[in-house]
Amino acid sequence: MKRILVAHALFPESFPTLNGFEIIKPQKSAFSSEELASLLPTCDAFISMFNTPVPAHLLSLGKNLKVVSNVGVGYNNIDVDAATRLGITVCNTPDVVTEPTAELTIALLLDMARGITRSHVAMQQKQEKWGVLENIGMDVYGKTLGIIGFGRIGKAVAKRALAMGMRIVYYSRTKQADAIEKEYQATYVSLEQLMKTSDFISLHTPLTSQTHHLIGKKELELCKPTAYLINTARGAVVHEEALIEALQQEKIAGAALDVYEFEPQVSDSLRCLTNVLLVPHIGTATRETRNHMAAMALQNVVEYFNGNPVRVVNP
Ligand code: NAP
Repeated sequence: MKRILVAHALFPESFPTLNGFEIIKPQKSAFSSEELASLLPTCDAFISMFNTPVPAHLLSLGKNLKVVSNVGVGYNNIDVDAATRLGITVCNTPDVVTEPTAELTIALLLDMARGITRSHVAMQQKQEKWGVLENIGMDVYGKTLGIIGFGRIGKAVAKRALAMGMRIVYYSRTKQADAIEKEYQATYVSLEQLMKTSDFISLHTPLTSQTHHLIGKKELELCKPTAYLINTARGAVVHEEALIEALQQEKIAGAALDVYEFEPQVSDSLRCLTNVLLVPHIGTATRETRNHMAAMALQNVVEYFNGNPVRVVNP
């Protein structure tokens, strides 16, 4: 019998009873790091959530641990180098997160452009204004969207933005093939050019040592004062302090954030700003997607023990 430790409570329908596997899951929302440390030595597999810290010292407690399957496409929460050194396979859940994350990105973009949440809050507080020169936003149609990281989610965002009549420019380490650029009507530009010319800038890179603070003071100073930044990637891709300063000084028009550098800590100076739209990491938070992610993470473990490892990030 293989023992699978599951860090977080997940929807029950995504975890069927499986012959040959015992699933150890928390009674409440999540195991604490102390509970994980005491349970891990007796487990063969570990299903972590994208926000479960999985450092080297935790991995090293897993005497029988063979596989860590992360519920999430991003796996910056796991010390993958340490896992590789310890001979532990790490898997993730790509693809199923693409469409919901793109949907949230577009929802944030439209909300920022038209001040929907701001107007809603004003209405609830009976402080709305009705004048024709009040509540003025910005057209999205005809505007330039700069996409940083043109992978699965970046492309899914581009597809939706194209349907809204936006122009697409993108930056990644690699220029896409001509056929893909044609399909998305997307133009490859430098990061500097993207920051200078975009009306909306949307981040879709993984968090790695290369992308940590990819957007800092220097990059934000290149932006149009009317530009909006949207981050549904990972918080630390943006230097949060530099972003707060740019927003305070109105060097950019606003920012919509799903992710934070010190998540779940969100600084008061960010919360207090009027030119931000903040949500608590809800990119994949739909019942369908969270079910798909959990089922895929479990499948990764089962396939590993069937001798057919899939979605391995450290092959
Ligand atoms: P993906 O298909 O691997 O795309 C990532 C893109 O980033 C690639 O185009 C890659 O292209 C580019 N990239 C990597 N390193 C870069 C660098 N140093 N500079 C510039 N571009 C770089 O990944 P995905 O499925 O779209 O997911 C992207 C990220 O979104 C995930 O890693 C995760 O952190 C985040 N995410 C967040 C949520 C949420 O709930 N908010 C949900 C899902 C995913 P090159 O290699 O050519 O540079």
